Amino acid sequence: AKLWTLQQHFEGLPKESNFELKQEELPDPKDGEVLLEAVFLSVDPYMRPYSRMHLKEGDTMMGAQVSRVVRSRNPSYLEGSHVIVHCGWRTHFLSDGSDLTPIPSNWPEELPLSLALGAIGMTGLAALYGLEEICEIKAEETLLVNAAAGAVGTMVGQIAKIKGCRAVGCAGSDDKVSYLKELGFDQAFNYKTISSLEDALREAAPQGYDCYFDNVGGDFTSTALAQMKPFGRIALSGSISTYNNTAPHRGPSIHSHMILKQLRMEGFLVERWKHKHHDSLQRLLAWVKEGRIKCREHITEGFENMPASFISMLSGGNVGKAVVKI
Ligand code: NDP
Repeated sequence: AKLWTLQQHFEGLPKESNFELKQEELPDPKDGEVLLEAVFLSVDPYMRPYSRMHLKEGDTMMGAQVSRVVRSRNPSYLEGSHVIVHCGWRTHFLSDGSDLTPIPSNWPEELPLSLALGAIGMTGLAALYGLEEICEIKAEETLLVNAAAGAVGTMVGQIAKIKGCRAVGCAGSDDKVSYLKELGFDQAFNYKTISSLEDALREAAPQGYDCYFDNVGGDFTSTALAQMKPFGRIALSGSISTYNNTAPHRGPSIHSHMILKQLRMEGFLVERWKHKHHDSLQRLLAWVKEGRIKCREHITEGFENMPASFISMLSGGNVGKAVVKI
């Protein structure tokens, strides 16, 4: 079995030298245990800030994966079945079954299981909950989402369109912007090539935004707040523009816009609505099956490429959900 450890805490953008590839021997499963083998590993932005908060140097990198049950001494998990497990960057894992989530039993054969880490998994749920629970988005409203060509952003825009809203997205390359238009975004722009973010946001929605799904934070958010309509709602999903900061974060200059426009801004973590996950995943699955949501994945092959895939995702190298295939 192989695993990737955090050899040294990140300073700025992670480097290959921050990680170390190790080998381990796993014993045979005991009664009640299952031996899992990784099939797809999720590559997510939260691994950057969370590693600082939760890992010591030498610990295994954190993360979720789709794994196959290769040996089972637990009657609830048949050999050959697939589960989701948060066991970190490992090729193999021994579990007592308590920490496993089975893939939904009605998963269509034609859909890749990797989608259980993305569109029909954590990132799809983040999009759905941010829009419905925090933004309480309604038909005809105008929505802004940044990092729009990524795993969460592509879902946010498409769900907003299903709900009859106007979706404005921005991303870091012209190819990503073309992809957003293909997905049905009403307006999209490349935030790296515009001369003024303020002007670009205003041109894309001259009347302003009812809802803002924020994946980026930092200066982007300071600027976006000025373009909100009164009583606008803001779902704070993440602040990827600050994850690699080495200097202390200044934070958005929120006061004047938040108060004068009476905005509502709330952070959220997907786990808050755990009780709704089952039904929510079924709704996402139905939209994907009906072709109302298109899923693009950025798949890198090979466990040895976990660090490279992670670094590339943080640098904007992905379109759609970043996943590593074993
Ligand atoms: P993505 O697939 O969107 O990948 C990250 C993208 O972020 C990159 O492709 C890049 O795209 C963009 N990016 C990187 N640096 C910057 C920057 N400085 N400014 C603007 N954009 C940048 O990742 P996810 O969809 O998985 O995650 C998106 C956000 O959602 C993250 O902030 C993450 O932490 C958050 N999240 C929150 C959850 C929750 O429960 N609250 C759950 C899941 C994710 P580009 O080329 O456009 O720059």
